[in-house]
Amino acid sequence: MEDGRDLVVACIALGANLGDAAVSVLAAMDALARLPGTTVTHRSGLYQSAPVEASGPDFINAVAEISTHLSAPDLLAQLQALEYEAGRERPYANAPRTLDLDLLLYGDAAINSPSLTVPHPRMAQRAFVLLPLAEIAPQRVSAAQLEAVRYQFIVRL
Ligand code: AMP
Repeated sequence: MEDGRDLVVACIALGANLGDAAVSVLAAMDALARLPGTTVTHRSGLYQSAPVEASGPDFINAVAEISTHLSAPDLLAQLQALEYEAGRERPYANAPRTLDLDLLLYGDAAINSPSLTVPHPRMAQRAFVLLPLAEIAPQRVSAAQLEAVRYQFIVRL
C-alpha cells in the first residue's frame, strides 16, 4: 500500500528475552516483511546478549534493514502494533519483554518528537545493536563505536 512517499531505507533493532526468544525475533523479521509498502532488504544473524538496564534471561537480538514507503511515525506505530501482537506487557519500566522493536535509523533523518527520537538515542552504547547493525550496514557503524562497547557480553549464534 504505497502512499506516494519516496522509499526510505530504515534499520530496526529486534530483541526478546521471554519464551522462545529466537522464534519471536525470527517471526518478527517475517512480520516486518508483511508491513504495508515495506520490504526487508537485509537480516543480521541472531545474537545473544546479557540484559542492559533490564532484567530476566539473556536477550536474543538482531537488526533488519528495510525499504519502506511508510512515514517514520507510521512505521513506529506498526512496530508497536507488532510488539503488542507478540503479547508484550509493560508491568514496569525495562521489564522482560517478548518482543522489543526499536527504530534505529530512518534514512538520514534526525527526528525529535515526543514519541520518536531517531537516530535511536541509546543505539551507540549498545553492543547488541551495533554488532548486528555493522553486519548488515557497516557504513553506519564506526570502529570507535565498536571499540566503546567491546566489554559488553554478546555472542553471535
Ligand atoms: P521501549 O519500552 O524501549 O520499547 O520504548 C518505547 C517508547 O519509546 C515508546 O513510547 C516510543 O514512543 C518511544 N520511542 C522514542 N524513540 C523511539 C525509537 N526510535 N524507536 C522506538 N521507540 C521509540
